[in-house]
Amino acid sequence: MAYDPDNVFARIIRGELPSDRVYEDEDFLAFRDISPAAPVHIIIVPRRERVTSTADLTDADAPWAGRMLVLASRIAREQGVEAGGYRLLLNCGADGGQTVPHLHLHLLGGRALRGFG
Ligand code: 5GP
Repeated sequence: MAYDPDNVFARIIRGELPSDRVYEDEDFLAFRDISPAAPVHIIIVPRRERVTSTADLTDADAPWAGRMLVLASRIAREQGVEAGGYRLLLNCGADGGQTVPHLHLHLLGGRALRGFG
């Protein structure tokens, strides 16, 4: 899957499309999924163009990719789903169910989640 600089998440990062933001800093943006699969469904995206999916990651990405996980933990706490539990999901490529070609981490919680696929 090639990087498309006009994918919806790149446009949200650039402020060209609106989003319901729950967190932002110089490296990341987090906003509510437009079609939530759970009461809490947050998308966390790195402000990095050309990182389509986890398939693009190299050792050099380890610091920010690690921070993304720590951030997800923080947002889960702030969104009130830490006690009940939650799911973090990274879809990669067509068979992984990825539809937006900009690496993103799903945070799902607020109901019991069962199974995969
Ligand atoms: P993927 O299937 O690529 O892992 O996840 C893409 C997610 O982005 C889907 O859950 C979809 O509902 C969400 N999404 C697609 N377009 C938009 C949009 O314009 N705004 C927001 N907030 N979410 C979107």
